[in-house]
Parts: sequence; C-alpha cells; structure tokens
Amino acid sequence: MTTVGILGGGQLARMLALSGAPLGLRFLVMDTEPDACAGQFAPLLVGDYRDQRALAEFASKIDVATFDFENVPAESAQWLSERVPVFPNPRALAVIQDRLAEKTLFRETGIPVPQFVDVASREGLEDAVATISAPCILKTRRLGYDGKGQFRIKSEGRATIDAAWKALGAQAETVGLILEAFVPFERELSVVAVRGRDGEFRTWPLTENWHVDGVLSASLAPARVDDALAVTAFEYAQRLAESLDYVGVFALELFCRDGRLLANELAPRVHNSGHWSFEGAETSQFQNHLRAVLGRPLGATTMRGHACMLNWIGELPDADAVLRVAGAHWHDYGKSPRPGRKVGHATVRADSTTVLAQALRRVGEALGRQAQVAPVVEALAGA
Ligand code: ATP
Ligand code: MG
Ligand code: MG
Repeated sequence: MTTVGILGGGQLARMLALSGAPLGLRFLVMDTEPDACAGQFAPLLVGDYRDQRALAEFASKIDVATFDFENVPAESAQWLSERVPVFPNPRALAVIQDRLAEKTLFRETGIPVPQFVDVASREGLEDAVATISAPCILKTRRLGYDGKGQFRIKSEGRATIDAAWKALGAQAETVGLILEAFVPFERELSVVAVRGRDGEFRTWPLTENWHVDGVLSASLAPARVDDALAVTAFEYAQRLAESLDYVGVFALELFCRDGRLLANELAPRVHNSGHWSFEGAETSQFQNHLRAVLGRPLGATTMRGHACMLNWIGELPDADAVLRVAGAHWHDYGKSPRPGRKVGHATVRADSTTVLAQALRRVGEALGRQAQVAPVVEALAGA
C-alpha cells in the first residue's frame, strides 16, 4: 500500500485524492486548518508547516510527498526531502516561489518575459517606473496568488507611485517587490504539462484563460491558436521542466501579444487551468501528477473533444441547473462560502465547438451568468 503525502489540504489535494483512489493509493494531507476541504476524503494531519515535529510525523507515515500549494516553506520541503522523496524537488519550488528568480530563469533559458526590475525601496520604485514606464504592475515577489499582492500603476505621476508604495511598500523588506511592464495581451494561455521521474515529458493541449480581477474565471481547451504557437509554448515548458529537473504536473502561464508569447509565471502543482482535464482528457492532470511522482507510467494527455471550465468564486450557483445541461460536470469543493474564495467549478465537454458553445450559453442563461460564459462563446464563434 502506497501513501502519498500532500502538503496543503485545499481543493487541489482533494482532487488528487479522488483521482488516486482508482490506483489504490492512500493519502495523508497536512494543513494548518482542521477544516481543510481535502480532509473530507483523506486523513488530515493538522500542523504548522514549519513545525519539525509535525513534519516528522507526516514523513513517518508517507512514501512520497508532494504539494497542493506553492508557498510551502522551502526549508520545510528541503527538510522533508532528506527523509522521504519529495516531488517536485525543493530547489524547483524555491525558484518558482520567488518571481524575481522565476523571471530570471525565463530570461536565462531564452523565454521572452515582460520587462521587470527588482524594487527594494521607495526611490527604487521611482527609478523602476522611470525605466519601465507606465502602465506597469508592482507585485510582491513571494506569497502572491489570485492577483493578491499586486498594484497596477496606470500613470507615472507622483500620486500613483505614492499609492502603490502605500499599498505594498511595507512588504519590500519582508517578501520583496518586483515591478513589471503591463502587457496589453490579446489572450492568456497556459501550458499544463507533466514530467515523469525518467524525464518523459507530456503536455495537455494549450488552454486559453480569462481572468476577472486577477482570478481565473474560465478556461477553454484546446485554445484557438495555430499549431506553431502551441509548439513554441510546449517547447518553453519542456525547457523549464528540464532546467529545474521538475517531476510532476506544472503550469506555465503565458501572455499572447501580437502573436508572440511572453511568460508570466510557473505554478509548481496541478493548476486551475487544467481542471477541465478531469473529464476532457484521456488522463487528468491529477492522475498524471500522481503517476509522475510515483514513477509510474504516464497516461495519454489527448483531449476528448473540446472543454470549458467555469470557476465558482465566493459561492456556488445552482448545481442542478448545470447538471441538466448535456456534457456538464459539477465539482463542489465542500468549502464554506466566502468572498473571493474558489468554492467549486463546472466543466462542460462536447465533441464540437458548436455544441460546446450551445451548452455554455444554456449554462450561462440557467445561472444568470451570461457575462462569465460570453468571452468563451465569442472565442468559440471565431474558432
Ligand atoms: P495565480 O493565482 O495565477 O497564481 P498571481 O497572484 O500569481 O495569480 P499573476 O498570475 O501574476 O498573479 O497575475 C494574475 C493576473 O493578472 C494574470 O493572469 C493577468 O490576467 C493579470 N496580469 C498579471 N501580470 C500582468 C502583466 N504584466 N500584464 C498584464 N496583465 C497582467
Ligand atoms: Mg501565481
Ligand atoms: Mg498567475
């Protein structure tokens, strides 16, 4: 019996546990919160990620460890890796946790990236804005997610710089800050990929993503891009995976502007933009992540037709209204509602783009959420 340990007990750990059940796997999830939603399906060890006693207990009960969130303290991941195999490796995690190290890696491996500058002080911010020019975005180097820890600088005036420093300046010394150019992208894309312990590399079809207020709202796969662009995106992902000796599933977020790709960030885990693979692919990102970290054969990442994932943020809409639509699938993460919280998603799958667009329109109308499906329906019409 193999037990997989997952640091972090959110919806990603929950979906990993659900996907690992058919493989006969056992799970142990560690989280700081006793009501972590993965705990509804897997034994939960409540403890601080920096507490060595809790980590030692975790390590003693598992055969391999992985993560459901990227902000696991890198030292804890390192400590754990001296006792039990940890995938992805702690060095990869450390690079990805720091936007400066991550973007430097993109640059060093020849992957185009928006202009960026490290910001250490208020004067440093003024210089950085002068270098990059507005519009630009000030971001925390570490610990940001769902667009948190970001401030958009729309103009170069003193008042805007004051406001940006007021919002994030205190974090310059704790988590660090980075200023990056704002990219007026035509679309956002992501590569969800998996690399096995033996170096075998596979990607799911390229996914197109729509964000609202910095949080993913909808994903469509396959993305409407020409093959050459997809090949370039896959090549970037493989280059990064190899340079980090990465094992498991990860996502590379990309901006597409004037037909060119610019890397935004990496996520060292299964990713929200790959949730559609649960029903839309031969093998889901969740099951392939488990296969990869266990050194088992990887499954095919081919699609079953076309799929769109809709995120439910804050609270769940009416499940049955969605389940009534052919090709629609429901995921309730078992979390209590809270503004801005990801509480579930739906995936709509169809054999053709026409049928997918029809099904999405029905979901939008049934829920009164036409605005959420509109950009996807529009994209499918132009596909
Ligand atoms: P995630 O939840 O994906 O980890 P995050 O907090 O790490 O989010 P980013 O991915 O950097 O943040 O930014 C969130 C979203 O904000 C992006 O998907 C994009 O829509 C927008 N955004 C971020 N950086 C830029 C940029 N430089 N130019 C234009 N839009 C941007
Ligand atoms: Mg991020
Ligand atoms: Mg992101």
